Amino acid sequence: MRLVLMGPPGAGKGTQADIVSGLLGVPHVSTGEIFRHNVSRGTSLGLEAKRYMDAGEYVPDGITNAMVRDRLSQEDCRPGFLLDGYPRTVEQVGELSAMLRSSSDSLDRVVELTVDVDEVVDRLVKRATDQGRSDDTEDVIRRRLEVYFQQTAPLTAMYEAQDLLIQVDGLGSIDEVTARIVAALGIQS
Ligand code: AMP
Repeated sequence: MRLVLMGPPGAGKGTQADIVSGLLGVPHVSTGEIFRHNVSRGTSLGLEAKRYMDAGEYVPDGITNAMVRDRLSQEDCRPGFLLDGYPRTVEQVGELSAMLRSSSDSLDRVVELTVDVDEVVDRLVKRATDQGRSDDTEDVIRRRLEVYFQQTAPLTAMYEAQDLLIQVDGLGSIDEVTARIVAALGIQS
């Protein structure tokens, strides 16, 4: 299965993507995680990405698309994958379609986790305290949400038009949200 998981920062995408990819037996491909991994190793990709991440901005499409193209071309992604945090711009949607088309593949579903904005701000502030992410300060959190609603929220209409979108209520316990995703996808938990 080839899946995309969308939702605003703090919606619980990473947690759910980990669980659901495990249930499906496909790799969890998180662009945010790949960037953070590169930042912590001090690679040139990491140094470049960090400037944008720390400001709450998106890393430019050219850099992000090349990184995803490389990751999805690896052997473990051949049977399927769960993309977490990509695509996030209209251009990335087009790039992902082109990548899949070139191997005669297509997306099966796009799951959007819907949440209340006040709730995600609370979650992100809490995560900042727990994990100390450098892009989790209050100003940056606000900017990340703004960027999401400007640039990424419109993508759901594109996927709805392609009949791929499933919206899942992201409020509730981790288990409750997983159960909703599993039911919406019609998979066994
Ligand atoms: P995340 O862990 O998914 O919230 O991503 C953390 C940060 O990585 C984002 O705020 C962006 O700066 C960057 N990032 C992750 N995915 C993308 C993407 N698809 N396009 C551009 N920037 C991204």
